[in-house]
Amino acid sequence: MLNHVREDRNICIDCNTRLEKIFEMVGCSPVERRLLNRPRRMTTFAVPVEMDSGEIQIFNGYRVLYNDALGPGKGGLRYHPQVNLEEVKNLAFLMALKCALVELPFGGAKGGVEVDPSSFSEAEKERLSRSFMQQLYPVIGEEVDIPAPDVNTNEITMGYLVDEYTRIHGSAVPAIVTGKPIALGGSAGRKEATSLGGAFVLRAYYAHRKDDLLGKTVAIQGFGNVGGHLAVLLTEWGAKVVAISDSRTARYAADGFEKEVIAKALAVGAVPAAGTEITNAELLTLDVDVLVPAAISHQITEENAADVRASVILEMANDPIATDAEATLKEKDIVVIPDIIANAGGVIVSYFEWVQNRSGETWTKEVVNAELEKKITGAFESLLTQSGTDQTNLRERGYVVAVERILNAERTRGRLARQVS
Ligand code: NAD
Repeated sequence: MLNHVREDRNICIDCNTRLEKIFEMVGCSPVERRLLNRPRRMTTFAVPVEMDSGEIQIFNGYRVLYNDALGPGKGGLRYHPQVNLEEVKNLAFLMALKCALVELPFGGAKGGVEVDPSSFSEAEKERLSRSFMQQLYPVIGEEVDIPAPDVNTNEITMGYLVDEYTRIHGSAVPAIVTGKPIALGGSAGRKEATSLGGAFVLRAYYAHRKDDLLGKTVAIQGFGNVGGHLAVLLTEWGAKVVAISDSRTARYAADGFEKEVIAKALAVGAVPAAGTEITNAELLTLDVDVLVPAAISHQITEENAADVRASVILEMANDPIATDAEATLKEKDIVVIPDIIANAGGVIVSYFEWVQNRSGETWTKEVVNAELEKKITGAFESLLTQSGTDQTNLRERGYVVAVERILNAERTRGRLARQVS
């Protein structure tokens, strides 16, 4: 079976592994399995960039549209030295599940360039983004596939992309990317949307248990856009954020960091100097109510899962728990609130941005946040209800709901009926 899978270059190996059990639970036919474990379209590009020195460098670029049964592709673009086709396929697949779970009219997509932009000047970053858009132009579109920011890309990058698209296209199409600067059609509330969505989900989790956030201790790994804003919000809502880290350092304060201290640190992009220094590895195994991985993937693995002492893990990063760690966490009755719901706030507000761009409306931050709360809390409460008394299986239930929705759309389109298994 594995040999058969590996010989098929279109298949997404990680997605196939994740889906094996779901295929059984949903009772998928062989042709449904084949449809779900490969992307609909994968494009690779050579992205030439003129460096400030005048030298031309060529980077590898990728865009994967995983599924489009529910609507156009949607997903971020990252600039990172470890970007490769397998990773992009897996991230596009997770986007397809996320959009289906929160009932957005989008399929999943992802893209990126294999590049380390840390030493790039701003002019080089701009030329990289414009060159990438020149390659992407034929495969994206406001009703085809809509990119957004991801690792090492931000609203400035989206500004370059939308401008280059407009230049090539000859007319303005603001809905071509989301996560844009407000001046170019971005949405109020997009910057904090992922964190606010995660905070709504965590609050709904405790409400479901007839409990609340007051006094709950929280450790957050990653103090960037997501982890930083979440730390401020949870403190505002009465939780005690006792540990925070970034890639350089981690700090611990038994009584919780003050909201003002966190906000000030976030403004300068550094972990609060208060409390005592701990290691990142120690942060992950602190005796807290909630552990929030909000940095990079595969931080909780078979090696450290047995030492995790939090009772809830809120997955704000994409894929922070390696598959081989999941059984150990389940044995320890740790509730994992999976990425496909916990960090869906970003794509939900991206959808609101796309709606505003296409309707010519401008929503206030209050409207955006209220609509976000309705959408993400509704999807999460429905997931909690479907999971019954065992809440250690939220990821599995989420995958089942998402896969059933995608398959239903595929059947309704007649794509499955026309295929011969
Ligand atoms: P960011 O680049 O703003 O912040 C990342 C933070 O993680 C930084 O503080 C960095 O120092 C820290 N970090 C990196 N490696 C680390 C390590 N080994 N240990 C501890 N800290 C480390 O990124 P972000 O936008 O906050 O995204 C964080 C995660 O959330 C990513 O996995 C991203 O894919 C996911 N996510 C982001 C959004 C969004 O809207 N920004 C939406 C969905 C998911």
